[in-house]
Amino acid sequence: MVHHYAHRLRLGAGLLVLLAAATLGQNSLAQQVPSLDQWKVHDKDRAQPPMVDPGPAGAPAPPPADALVLFDGTDLSHWQTTKGKPARWKVENGYMEVVDGAGAIQTKQGFGDVQLHVEWAAPNSGDGQNSGNSGVFLMKTYEVQVLNSHGNKTYPDGQAASVYGQYPPLVNASRPPGQWQTYDIIFRRPHFDDDGALVRPARVTVLHNGVLVQDNVVLTGPTSHKKRPPYKAHAGALPLMLQDHSEPVRYRNIWVRELDGF
Ligand code: MG
Repeated sequence: MVHHYAHRLRLGAGLLVLLAAATLGQNSLAQQVPSLDQWKVHDKDRAQPPMVDPGPAGAPAPPPADALVLFDGTDLSHWQTTKGKPARWKVENGYMEVVDGAGAIQTKQGFGDVQLHVEWAAPNSGDGQNSGNSGVFLMKTYEVQVLNSHGNKTYPDGQAASVYGQYPPLVNASRPPGQWQTYDIIFRRPHFDDDGALVRPARVTVLHNGVLVQDNVVLTGPTSHKKRPPYKAHAGALPLMLQDHSEPVRYRNIWVRELDGF
């Protein structure tokens, strides 16, 4: 009997701990997900990030030994359309280039937490959002904007290295159009419980041409045009996607290191 009683006590204590953890989890979640209500989406009153000259572009740096190379300048074997068809972007001279109308391309493999290196070059193809627009979509859902933001003004949360519609970069480290630029991105995926409720939002850190521009910011949900939709539960691994925004943006030297979850 004593043994049974002790067992029940332990069970009871365990339940209490679980309940306390669940309550704490809810409270801390409310604090974790920022509303950003002080800024409307694409708010033009937000300050334009100051320009920082990152120095001249260099040759592509070799990937680290444990990286998975997603594009080495020769072929699109790691990529496909969002419908699973062969990717039709142009590959030449060591880079790939968006083909207007070919659609976004995405990796065949899915990823969750990653360190990602991407090099890109944006043409001066128009004004505002139509000047070398593309985008690096983590998990097909969360966009780090690619845009010509050198002498091309747009709403701050939509310029190069912004988390689109949410966070302008801390500074504008853009190189002139046509020059190669780098993103180094550390992304921590969102977590959802079995009922699809958010238990931990996504976070991202971005270096643009080696300059810190996003410092572990907490995403409000998927990135979107003119709205900030809430999180919607999704798998723990989803493809990396590059956007076709109808402008001939180039990419090269794309590699990823999968990070352990925590
Ligand atoms: Mg874009």
